[in-house]
Amino acid sequence: MPAADHPIVLVVEDEPAQREVLSYNLEAEGFRVARAENGEEALMMVDEVSPDIIVLDWMLPNVSGIEVCRRLKSRPDTRGVPIIMLSARSEEVDRVRGLETGADDYVIKPYSLVELMARVRAQLRRTRPSTVGVVLEFADIRLDPESHKVFRGEKLLKLGPTEFRLLSTFMEKPGRVWSREQLLDRVWGRDIYVDTRTVDVHIGRLRKALSQHGGDDPLRTVRGAGYALG
Ligand code: CA
Repeated sequence: MPAADHPIVLVVEDEPAQREVLSYNLEAEGFRVARAENGEEALMMVDEVSPDIIVLDWMLPNVSGIEVCRRLKSRPDTRGVPIIMLSARSEEVDRVRGLETGADDYVIKPYSLVELMARVRAQLRRTRPSTVGVVLEFADIRLDPESHKVFRGEKLLKLGPTEFRLLSTFMEKPGRVWSREQLLDRVWGRDIYVDTRTVDVHIGRLRKALSQHGGDDPLRTVRGAGYALG
């Protein structure tokens, strides 16, 4: 499976052993993991790796987890990234909740890895459903991320791997306008250099693929902005 299909988890934890155990287990579950050992590094890495979800320890040296959370939740470009806060005691969780940091979930240490994985998946089911196997539907189009199959009505569509990733990106957020740069980040990944014109080429292929058995073109070109589904 191409790397861009796997969600990126940013693990922010200053205890090396805990950071490694958590990262190792996330990788074993098929996630791509970025590691940060303090708040400053976490804030920097968010811009670098554009994570799909953040597991954030509360007690960090210098910039605390609460502060990292608050900053990310106040930025329009990172507000939507789910944050799971880790805390040592339940009273701390109550306090963090009271501080209204905007964290999406809280887990108390010591936590069970099984439970934490379930919480990570639950958040991704909401924000990146195709990455955790949720079947996506839009009008008469149905995309199954597990079998890698796309149907339009009853007909199976032939789709290249890049077109499949493009379509799942669109189907996760129908109506959202994606710029070419955003599509490059999401579908090709940040670490690969691809020209934005490549996006147009694959959009053209996707359009053709979606109409291979007939049907309207569900993709919209938004002048000066990018592309949207519906
Ligand atoms: Ca800590």
